[in-house]
Amino acid sequence: MADSRIVGVLGGGQLGRMLIEAANRLNIQVNVLDAAASPAKQISAHDGHIEGSFKDASAVKKLAQACDVVTVEIEHVDTHMLEEVAGEVAVEPSWKTLRTIKDKYAQKGYLKEHGVDVAESEDLEGKGADGLKAVGERFGYPFMLKSKTDAYDGRGNFVVKTADDVDAAIKALGDRPLYAERWADFRMELAVMVVKTKDGVLTFPTVETVHEDSICKLTYAPPRNVSKTTTERAQELAKKAIGAFEGKGVFGVEMFLLKDDTLLINEIAPRPHNSGHYTIEACPLSQYDAHLRAILDIPIPSSALRLREPSIMLNILGGKNPDSHIQVAHKAYASPNASIHLYGKGDARPGRKMGHITVTAPTLVEAETEIQPLIDFVDDQKG
Ligand code: ATP
Ligand code: MG
Ligand code: MG
Repeated sequence: MADSRIVGVLGGGQLGRMLIEAANRLNIQVNVLDAAASPAKQISAHDGHIEGSFKDASAVKKLAQACDVVTVEIEHVDTHMLEEVAGEVAVEPSWKTLRTIKDKYAQKGYLKEHGVDVAESEDLEGKGADGLKAVGERFGYPFMLKSKTDAYDGRGNFVVKTADDVDAAIKALGDRPLYAERWADFRMELAVMVVKTKDGVLTFPTVETVHEDSICKLTYAPPRNVSKTTTERAQELAKKAIGAFEGKGVFGVEMFLLKDDTLLINEIAPRPHNSGHYTIEACPLSQYDAHLRAILDIPIPSSALRLREPSIMLNILGGKNPDSHIQVAHKAYASPNASIHLYGKGDARPGRKMGHITVTAPTLVEAETEIQPLIDFVDDQKG
């Protein structure tokens, strides 16, 4: 056996599943806390899994008692129980980091305190419609209204285009803890996967992300028409941001590249991230390999995080038919450089992340040519 330590993961979605794919190759046991048939558990047969919710303190405690290191594949977890068990089991990254990051407003405040540039934001909790209108006066329109917590795939965001949208915004998000963000008039979105080890901070290459309806649709590695100076600045900014947090593991750093080349951090994920899926095929070590190695203090040569070949990742979302995602996968079978991932999720609701495809090729142009028919097919299947 390569390693006798047991890793516990809060959450058993697609990120947990791909983490287990990496762990299986090293013969490392991963115990998952989530529902019985979750995507991660489907590919991991042993009796160490825990059935329950990662938001339930007693379930988190039960997981911690059976593991050597506890980590997360989602940040919306019970950090109070993680704080309590941190004396008995390693929690990576730190519960403090998870607590700060899971509240997007607190996260932004923390980054600002540490000298990291973020979009300007203002607390709106308890301020109602008047508060939104006052922010509109100050930031101008449009501005972005965001839920501080439990946000993902844009569920928790509302674009307030004019003062007339305020009532609709309150109706959509009014029952959640809110803050406002100044509009970032970006030229492009970039992302960097950062690896924090016991020895320091490493990065994967900078990628371009393309969002549609606030959900990540595509990533391009390397980004299209961005200078080396800018991609390097993005890596430095991502390193600075993650250097400010405690604990080990992989972090996803989402950024806005503004029209004047300024870089601002959009948000941070304290875990593997959609924009890092391409690393599975395109880099010597994937973000999942790197996360496992970082939390277990297994060496990571920095050059193992390099891009071997240009790549494009296309998300497969639930579409207009219950089997739209399967049809996309079938279409991709004919594509010689496409690696297809289906996550084993049940219901394919429109917009739900059901899988992804990564195409790698000697040049980005060749990858673009090969993936274009799949992008067209995905667009046609849109729900
Ligand atoms: P994720 O699934 O990445 O966790 P999320 O629900 O936390 O998403 P955000 O990352 O805050 O949402 O926003 C989703 C997308 O909305 C961004 O990638 C960007 O395209 C757009 N967006 C967010 N904030 C702003 C802003 N201040 N100005 C302009 N566009 C924004
Ligand atoms: Mg988010
Ligand atoms: Mg985001």
